[in-house]
Amino acid sequence: MLNYEQALATVLSNTAHAMSEECVALEQSLGRVLSRPIVADRPLPPFNRVAMDGLAFKHSDFNPTLPLEIKNEVLAGMEVNNSLAPNQAFHIMTGAALPASADTVVQIEHFELQSGELPQALLQSGRDYSCGLNIHPVGADAAKGEELVSASSCVTPAQMGVMAAVGSSEVWVKRKPVVNIFSTGDELVAPEDIPTAVQIRDSNSYVLMSFCQRSGANAKRLGTLKDDLSYLRQHLGQGLAGDILLLSGGVSAGTHDYIPQVLEELGVTQVFHKVAIKPGKPLWFGVSDSGVLVFGLPGNPVSTQVNFNLFVRPVIHQMVGLGLENGDEPKTLRLPISLDWVKRSPRPDQFINGKITASEQGMVVLPIHDHGSGDFCSFAKADALIRLSGDRGTTYSAGSLVEVIRM
Ligand code: AMP
Ligand code: MG
Repeated sequence: MLNYEQALATVLSNTAHAMSEECVALEQSLGRVLSRPIVADRPLPPFNRVAMDGLAFKHSDFNPTLPLEIKNEVLAGMEVNNSLAPNQAFHIMTGAALPASADTVVQIEHFELQSGELPQALLQSGRDYSCGLNIHPVGADAAKGEELVSASSCVTPAQMGVMAAVGSSEVWVKRKPVVNIFSTGDELVAPEDIPTAVQIRDSNSYVLMSFCQRSGANAKRLGTLKDDLSYLRQHLGQGLAGDILLLSGGVSAGTHDYIPQVLEELGVTQVFHKVAIKPGKPLWFGVSDSGVLVFGLPGNPVSTQVNFNLFVRPVIHQMVGLGLENGDEPKTLRLPISLDWVKRSPRPDQFINGKITASEQGMVVLPIHDHGSGDFCSFAKADALIRLSGDRGTTYSAGSLVEVIRM
């Protein structure tokens, strides 16, 4: 049986196809993965930008013991070409382009204003008027042609601002992988239905859909399949019209767990079945003739969630170019565990859920007690998985570092 690392490496090495690109409107690009870099179409700032309301003058013509004659006002967005005589100044506003005839701006509050034919202003003693003051020079932030956001970036609000500033009103991003999701099981009804005493509501397809969406995929819930061979033969194939198929349930060793058999009939080749982890051991993974990745996730809601976070999300990220090595959004980190904890499972890797919290020592992960396998309400309090390795009985004492996978 493969261990966690082997299974993850196997899944990723079978993720052959990278997503193609599509062009989206800038406002639709948040969280999308860029397929082309963003380059400055002009320098930033694009002109010598005035950073303070004040008087703009030419430093070499300025005599601080004489009053400056205040010529016209220059507002933001105004193009001004007139020149200044010695000891003349523009009254200029923040955000305006500094006219070529000036090179220094001193805030107006640093002058004594005097009225005259043209208003005049005398610099107060002790005020700074060094050359270039209060100017944000053209190109100081970025040069024209400079790469500002690299390909493979997952677009952030700040990056969206940079893209707007350089005129990228449409951007090229990786297409979202289409993930089809089926629940399986005769015991399942929809959340809006009233279950009989022996039925349960399908929760896994909602969990998987939302995890997929948050991972950057286009998730499609296709409904619930019956544990019936001919029914599965009739309907399961629809799920292969995408990039990934997720099946919840039907891959354990029950007599009606027909999923692997029907997948094989549909041209999906099994790559592995079962991983030496707790929970989530019955995971089934295969690849179809056309390269669709198929995950048969055990229906136990705890197993489903653990398997998704360990194996499916890395695949989605790799497909859009956010590889594990990319460093853009590391999902695995090491944090101190906040309580003493004993590993109870004999399997080489056990994953329990936890909550990342702030403490006086910094960020720590709090393990969350549950009542055992199948108890999934504790997941609603968790935002991470804690990996416990080693023999059964291995003790993790409070403060020791554990591997944490954010969910
Ligand atoms: P299975 O893997 O099909 O043997 O299912 C294992 C356990 O998970 C059973 O208790 C199922 O009732 C439960 N289960 C299966 N599918 C779902 C689902 N979609 N939502 C919630 N629980 C499920
Ligand atoms: Mg089942």
